Order: sequence, then structure tokens, then C-alpha cells
Amino acid sequence: MRGASAATGGQSELISLDAGELARRIHAREVSSVEVTRAHLERIEAVDGAGGGDGVHAFLHVDAEGALAAAEAVDRAVAEGGPVSPLAGVPVAVKDNMTTLDMPTTCGSAILDGWRPPYDATVVARLRAAGLVPLGKTNLDEFAMGSSTENSAFGTTRNPWDLARIPGGSGGGSSAAVAAGEAPLALGSDTGGSIRQPGAVTGTVGVKPTYGTVSRFGLVAFSSSLDQIGPCARSVLDAALLHEVIGGHDPRDQTSVDGPLPPVVEAALAGARGDLAGVRVGIVTEFSGEGYQPGVLAAFTDAVRVLGELGADVVEVACPSFSYALPAYYLIAPSEASSNLARFDAMRYGLRVGDDGSQSTDEVMSQTREKGFGAEVKRRIMIGTHALSAGSYDALYGKALKARTLIVRDFTAAFETCDVLVSPTTPTTAFPIGERTDDPLAMYLADLCTIPSNLAGNAALSVPCGLAADDQLPVGMQIMAPALADDRAYRVAAAYETARASASDAGPRIPELRALEGSR
Ligand code: GLN
Repeated sequence: MRGASAATGGQSELISLDAGELARRIHAREVSSVEVTRAHLERIEAVDGAGGGDGVHAFLHVDAEGALAAAEAVDRAVAEGGPVSPLAGVPVAVKDNMTTLDMPTTCGSAILDGWRPPYDATVVARLRAAGLVPLGKTNLDEFAMGSSTENSAFGTTRNPWDLARIPGGSGGGSSAAVAAGEAPLALGSDTGGSIRQPGAVTGTVGVKPTYGTVSRFGLVAFSSSLDQIGPCARSVLDAALLHEVIGGHDPRDQTSVDGPLPPVVEAALAGARGDLAGVRVGIVTEFSGEGYQPGVLAAFTDAVRVLGELGADVVEVACPSFSYALPAYYLIAPSEASSNLARFDAMRYGLRVGDDGSQSTDEVMSQTREKGFGAEVKRRIMIGTHALSAGSYDALYGKALKARTLIVRDFTAAFETCDVLVSPTTPTTAFPIGERTDDPLAMYLADLCTIPSNLAGNAALSVPCGLAADDQLPVGMQIMAPALADDRAYRVAAAYETARASASDAGPRIPELRALEGSR
């Protein structure tokens, strides 16, 4: 069993197993969902720490009672011999920008501290309906703006592979929870890379599905034309299994695609069994060279070599307009955010400052937003408001939309000659906590390779491709596929993952974290 030999530091073996294997054991009554859930709650207790202390701090909220009750319900259904869905009984963590009826939803922001939503996001409702067991809510950069989780109002999450380093962002909590064995599965949201980049730097799988194929209903909006919920997991098949639970049409999301979901589980299974004969893989030439860590490029090049050995036809493809992706994104995303975040007006949700009867509504609103939003969120609101203002609209927002069109055209042309495109997921491995907090531009560069797929709306995932030789930290390979061809990316990723797992240098799948366990 892959993963069974991973270090678990005296913890239950259950925390290192794939979700698919856990489900199999639960459904065969070899282990109960309650035991599996307990093992993960104990792992959280051992390594997560409270409130940003010494631990991984992947979670902002853990609902042990709710999780155990959900697990008991699945155990009862299994005992009664009723049909259960493929992941029933498996624990899952949810990024704290998706609404949950029984848990707070903060978006990592002081302005929503303690807010309890009156409804479940569609994805959360689908998790529950499929018998998955929500463990709690994970940390993120405030309103999902950032690449390190350092913008959370509730403390930084730390990378389980090196606690002095960032776990990526904005969904660092979800990926770190999966990497540390605190949850076998998690949900993330990806507006510019926030599932894939944390996946890459924590050595886990992260998928941004085709835009519109997973409901955004109940996802607190950051940039509505880019936001996409997707799965975080430790294997490609696990990500596919979760993808099929959350995906599919939702009448409550007006941008939801009304059509069948690409067959991602079937593709992951086929990829793991088969080769890649005849699959045309294009390496994006723009994503290498200056600014790319040598150890990242070496691991990526080696991964491409494996794809070639599996039978893929590997070519280089130029996507010249991808160089506009970062500047276009940093106009479009803040523009949409400035509009979306107007709803935090001190009247409807969470924090309210200065409401003593002596001040006007405008004053209360202004003081609440001043106190409740962090620096990065304010920066984006100001940039977005400026980009949309009458005098700048054409020169800034309008130009960015034109660049977006050029990027879409580059993808269309590239997918005429290639089935999938590949690149490193992120130019460097996890950087030290604090290194980029004073330099927003350096922080933004972490998403250089992931942003084009958000702008175009196509599918993209990150699959671990070993450790960088220069710092022994995880590297991710990004695999991009056309819109509604997510299954292609899964097939290539699963074939690669299977080939890599049999390589001698595959390494442990869960870091030991003995120092944390010993300190408790
Ligand atoms: N890091 C990017 C940003 O700060 C992407 C965030 C995301 O995907 N949510 O906007």
C-alpha cells in the first residue's frame, strides 16, 4: 500500500492512507468512519497548534463533535447495508471562504470574525449529501488574496515540510492540512493559482477545474470571472473522486455549465493503468529561464522526461501573450474584488465599528472597513476602484480585457497542436515566512504560471514531481487542458504519478513533524 510506510510519528496509520483506500476499508467494515475521523482529529490536535502558535495552523475552526456525528451516521448506513457513495465516511477540510451552516466563515478576515452563515455552499451541501465528514475550516489569505497565507488576520499557516516556510496561498491551510495528514482531502478555491501553488509547495495534488463546472454558490466572491472551487488531495485519483462529488451543474450559480462533467475518475484510473502513447504534450517556453529556481526547473525537466518515456510526444510551444497574464490579472481581479467587497458595509455582516449613535452610516462604514480589512485587501480595493474609474477604464481595465482575449487565443492555438500543456506550477519552492511580505510584486510572481488558466477558464492541475535538489522542498508540475477536457489533465497526471511512485527516490508522502508531536 502506497503511503503505508510513510512516517506517521506514532500516529495512526490511517492518516497516511489515500481517501479511496479509506473509503474502501470503511465500506468493507474493516475500520469505522468514526475511527478514521478520530485519527484525523488526533493528528490535528498533535500538530496543528492553536491560534498560530508553533503548529502547522492549517485550521481556523475544528468541529470535532459535528465530524464524529457525521461519521457515526455513515457507519450506521454501512452497517444497515444501504448504498453509500464512493467517498462516504472520509474526512474533508473546507477552505474558510465557503459558507457552512454549522461553522463560522471568516475568509481569514477580521471583518467577518465570528460570522455564521445561514446556509451551506453548494459544494459543502454536496460533501454532506455524499457522506463525507467535514472536519473544519482552513486558513487562507484574507479573502483569498495572497500566495502565502501570511495575509490571514488569524496568523500564518506553516509548511509541514519546513515549518519556517510558507505553505503557499491563498489556500495554504487546505494544502497544508492534506500534506500534514490532518485531512486526506480538502476543498480550495483558485482565482489565480490558490489551489495549484499551495499544492506545488506542499507536495500535494491541487486541481482548478474548468470555470463553471463546480458551483460558486456560497463561495465568498473575490473575482467572480476567475474564482473556481476545486479539490486538494495526496493522489490524483483522490482529487478526481472529490471532483466528481462537488462538480456538476447548479441552478443557483448563473455561470454554472449545464452539461456533463468530464469523466475525471475514469481518466485517473485509465492514466494509472496505461501509458501516454500518442498524447501530445506542449512545454510552454515562456515559463522558464530567469526567475526560475534551478532545482525547480531540474525537477520539472525530469518530469517531462518521464512523460516522454511513457510515450507522450513532447514539443515546445510558444504562448507569447502569457507575459501579459500577470499585469492583466492584477487589474481584472482587483477590479472585480473592489465591487464584490462593497457588500462588507458594516450593516449586513460581522464587524461594526463606531455605531454609538453619534455617527453617520458613512462614518460607521468607513471606520469598519478601515479596521476590518487588512493591507493587501485595501490595496486591491484601491487599485480596482481606480482601474474602473471613468478616466482610467479604457486605459487599464479595458486593456486588461484585451490582454485576456490574447491569452485565450494563445491557448486555443496551442491546443490545436497539443492535448495538454505543461510548466512548473510555480517558479520557486516554498519561500521563508516573512521573505516577501514587504514586496507585493515578488509575492505576485508566485502565480506567474498559474494565472493564464484562470484568465482563459480552462482546466489545470498541479501534481508533485519530487523535491528540488537545491533545497529538498516539493516541486509541482502544472498540467493544463482545454476547457471541459479536465479528464486529459487527470490522465496525464495519473500516468506520471504512477511512474514516479515506482521510482526509487519517491520519498515519504507525509512529513514526520516529530518536533511538534514531541512538544505536546
Ligand atoms: N495569489 C493570487 C492573488 O493573490 C491568487 C489568489 C487566488 O487564487 N485566490 O490574487
